[in-house]
Amino acid sequence: MLTTILYRSHICENVSVKSLEDMVSAASRRNGEADVTGILLFNGTHFFQLLEGPDESVSAIYKHICEDTRHYNVVELMRDYAPSRRFGKSGMELFDLREHDRDDVLQTVLDKGTSKYQLIYDDRALQFFRTFVESTEKENYFEIPPAGSWEFIADDAILPPATVTMDSQTECSFAFQPIVDPLAREVVALEALLRTPDGGSPEAWFAGLTGNESYKADLDCKKVAFAMARKLNLREQTLTVNLLPMTLVNIPGAVNFLLQEIEINGLVPEQIIVEFTEREIISRLDAFTDAVRQLKAAGIRVAIEHFGEGFAGLSLLAQFQPDKIKINRDLIRDVHKSGPRQAIIQAIIRCCTSLEITVIAVGVEKAEEWMWLESAGVYQFQGHLFARPCLAGIPAIAWPEKKIPFI
Ligand code: C2E
Repeated sequence: MLTTILYRSHICENVSVKSLEDMVSAASRRNGEADVTGILLFNGTHFFQLLEGPDESVSAIYKHICEDTRHYNVVELMRDYAPSRRFGKSGMELFDLREHDRDDVLQTVLDKGTSKYQLIYDDRALQFFRTFVESTEKENYFEIPPAGSWEFIADDAILPPATVTMDSQTECSFAFQPIVDPLAREVVALEALLRTPDGGSPEAWFAGLTGNESYKADLDCKKVAFAMARKLNLREQTLTVNLLPMTLVNIPGAVNFLLQEIEINGLVPEQIIVEFTEREIISRLDAFTDAVRQLKAAGIRVAIEHFGEGFAGLSLLAQFQPDKIKINRDLIRDVHKSGPRQAIIQAIIRCCTSLEITVIAVGVEKAEEWMWLESAGVYQFQGHLFARPCLAGIPAIAWPEKKIPFI
């Protein structure tokens, strides 16, 4: 199988342009032996490279490139497969864009096309070349500092965790995980995550429940979430709970039940956010939209979680606008290294900014993921980087502190 990888990266300050020539001749030898084509563009700050050849060789060379300390912020832009080569000659060629006319570079790249049918103008790889040469995407290159430039210091103000024990009749428990604005050092909300009494996952708790049973149980267990919130003395803190969308549709009086339990536990509707997963098909969208209106009319805010993964996606935003959406870990994972994830998240942010919907990133585990997302305009985060869910308690939060460089 023939594989094409395109990436861009940032040159390190201490790398001289002269040393690039040595790098290119070494790479040319290595690529030649592996039957891989390399076309490298350099604009004085950024590299842009195409690698094309047998899948295993291209992947091995790309892995080696990612580990090279002469550049950083390596972002994979495209990984594609083709029946035959776009570019014929194996080895490595460098074009320094400061020394060549843009149109000449593009024409030279095009002339290198050796596919059976001439390299076509709307070929994705070629379009990527054009975009780089013309610098039209430059405002989307977020140059994030190395992970080690921040340290994460646990907030000991709430250590040890304030745990709460429910009576033995209670058949479920909740773990609490904060959603934070790290630079403002603010806890935006606490999310109550369903657990079995011994701390098992929501899937484990729902296992065995079928049809309407699971909707009824989903609603009933919120009683425990609100009671735990009262015992944890949340005061005005925003509390987020989860519901299957069809719970609101299938269980008569669901909204009134929630309002009643909120009041019994000394909370107010304005501090509650109900999150709906987008993973479940909403079969009666009108009834669901109506229930959401009732929640909002009572002062409860609404969020869509796992946004972009499920059945409704963007069309759900056209039907009703939530106050918040949560982007799931599948898109967040290694976002700093992935061009496709960056493009999708930027589109979600643009769309939500136009609609004044807050975006929350979920499952943030790495400092680089957090830094890239902050640069892109996300300010609210939930993830192990800051705090793990704590069973029946509020965990300590690790706040980021910028390291002062050693002089
Ligand atoms: P969610 O609301 O998006 O909750 C976040 C999930 O991501 C939680 O999984 C949390 O433990 C996990 N998480 C948070 N930070 C990280 C991280 O940095 N890395 C990784 N790998 N995971 C992280 P959990 O508790 O297993 O919940 C999974 C999903 O179950 C929730 O996603 C929510 O959709 C659903 N859920 C939770 N409680 C309830 C409930 O009471 N009712 C219903 N219907 N669904 C619930």
